[in-house]
Amino acid sequence: MTKYIFTTGGVVSSIGKGIASASIGMLLEARGLRVAMMKMDPYINVDPGTMNPYEHGEVFVTDDGAETDLDLGHYERFTSSKLSQKSNATTGAVYNTVIQKERRGEYLGKTVQVIPHITDEIKSRIRSLTAEEEPVDVAIIEIGGTVGDIESLPFLEALRQFRLEVGPEHCCCVHVTLVPYIEASGELKTKPTQHSVRALRDIGLQPDIIICRTGKNRLAKEQRQKIALFCNVGNDAIINAEDIFPLYAIPLNFKRQGLDDITLRILGVTAPEGDLTEWTDMVARMKAAETTVHIAAVGKYVGHDDAYKSINEAFVHAGIHNDCNVRLSWVDSEEVEKASSADDLLRECDAILVGPGFGARGIEGKIAAARYARENNVPYFGICLGMQIAVLELARHKAGLDEASSTEFAPDTPHPVISLLSEQRGVKDMGGTMRLGQYRCDLREETRAHAAYGDTVIYERHRHRYEFNNEYLDTLTQAGMVVSGTHSKGDHELVEIIELTDHPWFCAVQFHPEFKSKPLRPQPLFRDFVGAALQHRKQRD
Ligand code: GLN
Repeated sequence: MTKYIFTTGGVVSSIGKGIASASIGMLLEARGLRVAMMKMDPYINVDPGTMNPYEHGEVFVTDDGAETDLDLGHYERFTSSKLSQKSNATTGAVYNTVIQKERRGEYLGKTVQVIPHITDEIKSRIRSLTAEEEPVDVAIIEIGGTVGDIESLPFLEALRQFRLEVGPEHCCCVHVTLVPYIEASGELKTKPTQHSVRALRDIGLQPDIIICRTGKNRLAKEQRQKIALFCNVGNDAIINAEDIFPLYAIPLNFKRQGLDDITLRILGVTAPEGDLTEWTDMVARMKAAETTVHIAAVGKYVGHDDAYKSINEAFVHAGIHNDCNVRLSWVDSEEVEKASSADDLLRECDAILVGPGFGARGIEGKIAAARYARENNVPYFGICLGMQIAVLELARHKAGLDEASSTEFAPDTPHPVISLLSEQRGVKDMGGTMRLGQYRCDLREETRAHAAYGDTVIYERHRHRYEFNNEYLDTLTQAGMVVSGTHSKGDHELVEIIELTDHPWFCAVQFHPEFKSKPLRPQPLFRDFVGAALQHRKQRD
């Protein structure tokens, strides 16, 4: 019998529901339970694929090619739950399904309404999450947005119905809320939480556990009792979630407060005690790191950390492995473009990253950064667009193709070294139409990539429309480019990894290795790149 945990958020958005849900998942997995995770998002976009990462944060890609909310990245980093197209549902996706059914006449002349048709579709998506062959012990469903929003009402109503249908004894509602500190009175205030829980109860949902975000402070006993009393929740089920560093210490803080035991008690599940030694050691190792390497990330979306969430986290994981901190500073590629020499902006860094991106803006600055890395023996890592940039740089400055470009930025370039993937021709819709998800990549032996992965076959996730143009393969390999990873498309080999041999560490990939990095299992290329940055730093000192 699958048990269900629903996570809702109160008072403000960005309260940390995603991390809280992921942490609960991690603690339950440690106790031997099989966990499935899902996020419901109340916005009308069918998926976040077309949303601006600068406003909404990164688009996380699953193995099966779903473009999803960045919270799914937290789920994958904290748990081993298998995420797929089923793991993220938006209002847009739900309505889309219902409207298509209506057009096909499947509602047999009925008036199609929010209740029951939209709520039925939401419930069926929750059910399909657990309809796998391997049984799921606990499904954790996070509802995006804040309780009280108009948009999230159908989701909360669906949860209310779902809870009655499967039986309240199989469900646990976790409400994550803000308990703000008011400077003037010098106290933490519980009233916003009381109001938020009241709003939830109006909809017919009673929280079983309240996770209180208290900033730098901690709840005093009286405040805990007050929340418990007014919100009708047991004293021990009021969990203090003060700001914790590092992020990966959050589940350990929950564990200290017995959150896993309380959750299991509410769900009526018995499970053996978990072993968190490896995780605890990882957090301790992270805290103990003294050296810091400085990586310059040359990009367009400067100033918004969430736009590259998984990349940031992959660097944290690589840092843990190398016993160092990684300071990623975003360098605006347009500034590099304007600067008289890239040297002025990049001199201080130990390594250079050019990450994913779309559109022509800032491209010349990124090419200048790649050139700087190559000519000055600074470790370079290119991800997706960052690989395409490395190819343009080599084509222009090593192969003598001065005007080489990508057809994404210069459709009429005389040397389209990067061009549209053949299957992308004729694609008009923007949503969900890129080359998405996991593909096989064969590695060439005795290359940097092969050494990093220690394998000849790997699987990584993709999100792009353009590719290396094989017509230039000979020219570029003669200029020193080594193709170390390819994907076979039957009639041709798609270039997936390139590297340079006469350089301390220069490697660039067409895929997104950041999506598969985990704190206990750093992604091999990130790991080695940070190792190379550390090496470069030592040489400079
Ligand atoms: N704009 C490039 C493409 O579509 C790179 C995409 C990316 O970096 N994710 O191929």
